[in-house]
Amino acid sequence: MTVKQLESKSVVLLHHHLKALRLPTIGAECEKVARRAASDGSDHLTYLLQICELELLERERKAAERRLKDARLPSIKSLESFDFTARPSVNKVLISELARCEFIDRRENVLLVGNPGTGKTHLTIALSAAACARGYRVRFFRVTELLTSLIEARDERTLLGLRARLAKLDLLVLDELGYVPASKVGAELLFDVISTAYERTSLMVTTNLPFESWTEVLGSERLTGATLDRLTHRCQIIETRGESYRLKDAKARIRKPKASGDKAQSAEAGAAPVDPVEGGEVTR
Ligand code: ADP
Ligand code: MG
Repeated sequence: MTVKQLESKSVVLLHHHLKALRLPTIGAECEKVARRAASDGSDHLTYLLQICELELLERERKAAERRLKDARLPSIKSLESFDFTARPSVNKVLISELARCEFIDRRENVLLVGNPGTGKTHLTIALSAAACARGYRVRFFRVTELLTSLIEARDERTLLGLRARLAKLDLLVLDELGYVPASKVGAELLFDVISTAYERTSLMVTTNLPFESWTEVLGSERLTGATLDRLTHRCQIIETRGESYRLKDAKARIRKPKASGDKAQSAEAGAAPVDPVEGGEVTR
């Protein structure tokens, strides 16, 4: 056998071993990095370090991608695209702190309360994505979707499995609590999820309802009291006060063709006492 043949035989064998060891990135990159190491005059350990780093980086990238997919976020939103000046009731410093996810380590909850269109879901998605990027297991549910899953699982006798999957999460997101009243069974199942999560899994809940109205959604006062008690114990409450961003956005778009530059901005700031759009042309 010539040297060349020997080399190619050991490369084939190497790829075989790397496959068995599940090191695909090293398999894909080892020859290229070896050629570079030879021309740079790097020693064996440096070469080994380089290919191990590549494998690790690729694994981390894939794991982050998987976590983001598993979180089932309904869309992509970022904190960078959130206009904090348009929502002064939201404390930017607090949101940046939440994006560092220490609240998840402390098993604390976050509750976002405010009218429709005020950015609750936007902030929730952005914070969820930040948590995925930091290695936390997140799952985003609209409350109605979770209730359907819970009721189906109960009927199919797979509730234990669903509860076990929820228990593995670091952050469970419940979006839109209160848009639809829960049935008695639904309210009890939801309470079960919330009380199981208590001090074990962080919850992030968005709602358009002030606390006084939660009874309308959960039915009984006893259940509402117990739910709120668990949810709000060790909890950051963020209020998104003010006008709907969608409405504001739509109004700005309607005004823009008429007004130019500065004029449009002063209208934006709410200077115009009479607003032709106010009163319902733009509906949700
Ligand atoms: P909510 O969940 O409170 O009903 P959303 O988060 O769904 O409201 O916001 C409605 C739309 O307006 C979304 O497209 C969102 O990205 C956008 N939006 C809301 N608030 C802001 C903001 N302060 N800056 C940028 N976009 C915003
Ligand atoms: Mg929403």
